[in-house]
Amino acid sequence: MPGPLDEALREKLTQRLRYYEDIGITLFYRGRAAAAAAAEPELPSIELSVEAPVEESVAYESPSAAVPEKEEILAKRSAAPATSHSSPAVPKAAVLFTPPAISLFESAARVAGDSLVKIRAEIGEDCQRCKLCRKRTKIVFGDGNPRAELVFVGEGPGHDEDVQGLPFVGRAGKLLTQMIEAMGLSRQDVYICNVVKCRPPENRQPEKDEVEICSPYLVRQIDAIAPKVIVGLGATASRTLLNTERGISQYRGEWQEFRGRKFLATYHPAYLLRNPAAKADVWKDLQKVMAVLGLAPRKGKPA
Ligand code: URA
Repeated sequence: MPGPLDEALREKLTQRLRYYEDIGITLFYRGRAAAAAAAEPELPSIELSVEAPVEESVAYESPSAAVPEKEEILAKRSAAPATSHSSPAVPKAAVLFTPPAISLFESAARVAGDSLVKIRAEIGEDCQRCKLCRKRTKIVFGDGNPRAELVFVGEGPGHDEDVQGLPFVGRAGKLLTQMIEAMGLSRQDVYICNVVKCRPPENRQPEKDEVEICSPYLVRQIDAIAPKVIVGLGATASRTLLNTERGISQYRGEWQEFRGRKFLATYHPAYLLRNPAAKADVWKDLQKVMAVLGLAPRKGKPA
């Protein structure tokens, strides 16, 4: 490893960096950063700052709540310092080193030869990886066709799911089942799972650390099933898989991509129980999914 830069050279480099910055050449540094990392490790060290996590307090989602939620997020983001430096020498250059907003999931390698059975076995019968283990009754891994073309992803188990060890078997689950049947499918045709596999106490939203620990298993489940379409039920599932802070109503019903697969966010069935008027939107979303899967709706009125 080369030693530290001598003061004069350091000052010269600093001046040069400032000069380029002043005349607006910023990408120059970005391109240079990778090479410089190897060739000039003694450049002023710059700490990457991660934007402060933004917590959502709304359970599931509401179209009307989404707008203030976004404003709140933006306000928090603009209030948070974008960068921090360990050296005052190049005050603005740090922004050039901000890593691209690529989801960890997008870059996570696929596990060769993975299967739902292996993933389930790896989680184990008494997973203690996060604090949700303290109050859960049963781990709710997921249920349905391991080769499903369609995967539904919810937030996390509720009371009934916790007791039975199966996803979406309570009131919201009954509505989801009706929705699936209205699509001309049965629960055995699709796969249903959640972001976290253990019930959050009092049905609170899963916390960031819980999502971070558990969601890699979800990603592996999706990879192993290799569905044509993934439907994110509600804000938590959609935000987690899309790695976004945007309110769900901003992209609900629009095709997105998750690891090369078609992803569509829609409202959570629990939200529909409280806001039945939103069922029409969800039905429109599901019809888009049906078009991609070549499904004809079952006769009769959807749930
Ligand atoms: N809500 C969810 O998000 N998942 C379930 O399994 C049940 C209710």
